[in-house]
Amino acid sequence: MPIPTHTIRCTKNERIAKDVYDVRFTKPEGFTFKAGQFVLFDVALIEKPTDMQTRALSIASLPDEHELGFIVKLKPGGRMSRWIAEVLKAGMEAKMKGPFGNFVLDRTTDKEYFFIATSAGVAPFRPMIVEALKAGEMRKIDLVFGVRSEEDLFWEQELAVLAKEHKNFSLHIGLSQPNESWKGHRGRVQTLAPAIAKDFSKKNVYICGSPDMTNELKKISLEEWGIEKKDLHVEGYI
Ligand SMILES: Cc1cc2nc3c(=O)[nH]c(=O)nc-3n(C[C@H](O)[C@H](O)[C@H](O)COP(=O)(O)OP(=O)(O)OC[C@H]3O[C@@H](n4cnc5c(N)ncnc54)[C@H](O)[C@@H]3O)c2cc1C
Repeated sequence: MPIPTHTIRCTKNERIAKDVYDVRFTKPEGFTFKAGQFVLFDVALIEKPTDMQTRALSIASLPDEHELGFIVKLKPGGRMSRWIAEVLKAGMEAKMKGPFGNFVLDRTTDKEYFFIATSAGVAPFRPMIVEALKAGEMRKIDLVFGVRSEEDLFWEQELAVLAKEHKNFSLHIGLSQPNESWKGHRGRVQTLAPAIAKDFSKKNVYICGSPDMTNELKKISLEEWGIEKKDLHVEGYI
């Protein structure tokens, strides 16, 4: 069956960190998806509105939330980045189709869940983790969330509250270039993740973020960390 295109209305477009936007839309009647999936937006070129291309965004809201939420990390001069920063306002309509993708929680594994994200790559992990915890998931869940510095950070309070409420969920924020006053983890997720996981043979691992990071980690995961292919799930934001 062909995937239909939906017209949705923006309800919020707010900058929440340096070059990061929290964007919300109305959810079309009957629209369902699995936590972790993405949709494709039609994005016109500002200078030539008839020049249309699609761009992917992971759904950052939960399937049972009444709106669709997204986190967008701007790329300088990018088509979608300019649309979000310069054009899209609450009340405007947009077109998207979906949902797409198999980057969803593996319900068949007995292993502990281990998530590694940089910046907007944390978007699909929020619904995956919150949904699992809401459903009473008791196994250990770790989220390693890396950004460059304090000004790039978002969702830290919401995720910290979640970790406080659920003893089996641990949040590990790492900054690669923090200010001197930063008291948390320092360094890239590439070094932070193995220090936290210790033994990856017990983990079912999810990696999401920029393609540079996901490609590097995919290789390291299989060749150095000893993660089996069946336990590795990777979404690169190409
Ligand atoms: C499955 C999936 C899910 C994703 N989910 C998210 C998400 O939740 N959040 C998120 O922020 N991103 C996500 N992405 C990435 C997103 O889809 C876009 O690729 C990203 O936002 C950049 O899009 P853009 O239109 O702004 O930039 P583009 O127009 O695609 O350009 C990318 C960069 O290349 C430069 N560029 C473009 N054309 C040229 C050229 N001719 N010469 C030199 N440089 C050029 C631009 O200036 C820009 O810096 C996802 C990607 C995938 C595949």
